[in-house]
Amino acid sequence: MTSSRQKVTPEQVHLAYDKAKYVYENPGTITKAAAANELHSEHKINEGTAKDFIRIFQHLRKGSVFKRALSEYAMDYFLFNINRDYSNDDLQTSLSALMKHIVYREEGNPKTGRKPVSQHAMRRLHRKYLMIINNSKSESSQLSDEAEQEAVHEKTYSTYRDKIDLKRAIEEYANYPLEVITISNTLFKRNNVAIALIKRYRNYKCQICKISIKKADGSEYIEAAHIEPHSQAGRATLHNIILLCPNHHKEFDLGKTDVRYANNRDFVEITLNGKTHKLLLH
Ligand SMILES: [Zn+2]
Repeated sequence: MTSSRQKVTPEQVHLAYDKAKYVYENPGTITKAAAANELHSEHKINEGTAKDFIRIFQHLRKGSVFKRALSEYAMDYFLFNINRDYSNDDLQTSLSALMKHIVYREEGNPKTGRKPVSQHAMRRLHRKYLMIINNSKSESSQLSDEAEQEAVHEKTYSTYRDKIDLKRAIEEYANYPLEVITISNTLFKRNNVAIALIKRYRNYKCQICKISIKKADGSEYIEAAHIEPHSQAGRATLHNIILLCPNHHKEFDLGKTDVRYANNRDFVEITLNGKTHKLLLH
């Protein structure tokens, strides 16, 4: 199983990636065997290893199991470049192929005598790229919510003139967070409509330290936090949304937090890492 093949240099890994990608993207122009032969004659890569690179690339793109192993460096390089050259979804497909490979190698096969091989390095890479996928997903969804709230602000700015108007509208839009509604021919998530109005109602200020971030275009940036988490059907109401600066928002999410409603939910007392703040909710 472990071969006497020579070690592959980083440069050879890079060249093998480029060739494997070319073969995959230009079907019918070059056979796998011919491409492996070129990698061998031009770059001195062992022909069997070159074939492995080309086949593994195809499995990574299709999400199917591959049996031969790549070095940690080579797998890292392949995943990094698939993420760069293709999309997040494609990286997800590659990770599913990698997980099938990990399971195949870890299980071994008693019938054929193939021994289980632990896959710590491959599991580490799998976790690393899974985190990259998750981070970029949450960043892009935050961005689009933010953009949507700005658009709501512009579309509704002249509709609601004072706090009484705003409050009535917030109550109207607060329920059923997943529903999509139309305002001036544009579709918005109802939740983002309510949050945009709450930000305006509370003057875009952190309810703990009273600051907001001035943007280059003169508008102000502030974040909305759900007291009862969004994932637990927490709604975008004046009683459930508080406005926080990025620092206080992170502290609220990550710190030792205690929340107590007071005065029939007119106020909430939030204790963040031992310090209590009283926030107005109406
Ligand atoms: Zn703050």
